[in-house]
Amino acid sequence: MSTSPRVLIIGAGLAGPAMAIALARQSIRSTVYERRPFAQGIGGVLMLAPNAVRVLDKVLGAEQDIRELGYSYNGIELLASSGTSPMQLLGKFATIPGPENQGITIKRPVLHAKLLELCDEYKEFIQVEFGKSLVEIQEDEDQVKAIFEDGTSSTGDILLGLDGIHSRVRRHVLGDQANNFSAKYTGHVALGSAIQRSASDFTGIAPPAFLYTPAGTILSFPTDPSGENLQWVAFLPTPERERKAWDEYRASGQAITDLKDAWKDIKSEPIKSMMDTLTPDNLLLWAPYATPDLPTWHTNRVCLLGDAAHAISPSAGQGTAQALEDVGLMARLLGSKSAMEKGFPAIFAHYERVRRKRLEEIRKITDGSVRSRAATPNYGIWWLKKLGLRLGLSAMNALSGFMRGPSFLTYDVTKENIEV
Ligand SMILES: Cc1cc2nc3c(=O)[nH]c(=O)nc-3n(C[C@H](O)[C@H](O)[C@H](O)COP(=O)(O)OP(=O)(O)OC[C@H]3O[C@@H](n4cnc5c(N)ncnc54)[C@H](O)[C@@H]3O)c2cc1C
Repeated sequence: MSTSPRVLIIGAGLAGPAMAIALARQSIRSTVYERRPFAQGIGGVLMLAPNAVRVLDKVLGAEQDIRELGYSYNGIELLASSGTSPMQLLGKFATIPGPENQGITIKRPVLHAKLLELCDEYKEFIQVEFGKSLVEIQEDEDQVKAIFEDGTSSTGDILLGLDGIHSRVRRHVLGDQANNFSAKYTGHVALGSAIQRSASDFTGIAPPAFLYTPAGTILSFPTDPSGENLQWVAFLPTPERERKAWDEYRASGQAITDLKDAWKDIKSEPIKSMMDTLTPDNLLLWAPYATPDLPTWHTNRVCLLGDAAHAISPSAGQGTAQALEDVGLMARLLGSKSAMEKGFPAIFAHYERVRRKRLEEIRKITDGSVRSRAATPNYGIWWLKKLGLRLGLSAMNALSGFMRGPSFLTYDVTKENIEV
């Protein structure tokens, strides 16, 4: 089997269009099916760490296009205030020298629109269909069939599930076990807003910056090349709600009341300005979910990628990066003549083996960053936490000459073995 496969991609979020572009660049045709009726760009700001940028560059050939729309950074500042004192710099995290190690912060809707625009540039190889909600998959020895809510269907050689956190494709792959592995709310809602750097006191702070306080940590990111427009996000522990109830929580002002209450003792800038300028209209709310470790990611003709396979808490800024790494590996495998000769089940098994190992490492880092960003119950623990962060950053920076920064950020999926 070495002819070009007919590929069905479910989901035109971030990773679905990226997958289609990566395949098109190897002259492999695909159709992307998206549940939403149009290319609706939703969401806040994303971090694309160097490991994600490697995929944009080497797999999608789109690094420059995307860099021009976002903000390039080498490292993230970590600062702390006990609540009333000015923010003090603890050190810089992930400072990896070299232009090839510059991350990008970018608004999700801007990245989404760019990826769809690139799909259009490859229209000879890519078709994107909106308003197509997958409801069922049938597969046999020869082909796979996707059946949509509107009664239409489509057949292909393989189906790639990039349909996000509440994936329908995952239910097909897991069968009877699916209910045991649905995505779970992380327990913390992400709340934040846009802010202009010059409109509040960022003296001595150069975002991207993580602002540690006893009430928790606020992350602030530039959203465009100027560095002037920022977005900040705080994580507030609150119970899970239905979609409508989340909208109501935001629109009623209750989310702002709860957030301000949790941060009432923090008077230091720029956090005070961030809280003071919040209104229900400018508040961004995002309830993050994570999936447990799935027993398998594929069948013979269907494979999961991105959040559908392994949604992780957003706190390490690796959700999109991991989805892009999946795309990078899968595209290389499907474009490899020798891998294709081994057949799809062998390709999917190889992909799962390589990506699971990487995700194990990323989950550990994510869990650590969730703990370090939480509110701190008493002064002694807060003091120890600051000391730990300071020492940790000094040790990391002292070693950076040997390590060139944390290795999980310099990982390059295009160097993975694709001998199936
Ligand atoms: C609305 C939204 C806002 C987000 N905001 C942020 C944010 O502010 N910060 C952040 O770090 N991350 C955010 N994320 C998450 C981030 O985009 C993902 O973690 C990451 O990019 C992985 O991408 P993905 O393509 O696997 O999943 P997603 O980007 O979630 O894309 C999945 C796509 O599949 C579609 N889909 C789902 N079910 C079906 C079906 N049955 N049939 C067809 N299509 C289907 C969805 O509509 C969606 O477009 C957001 C995700 C969404 C959907």
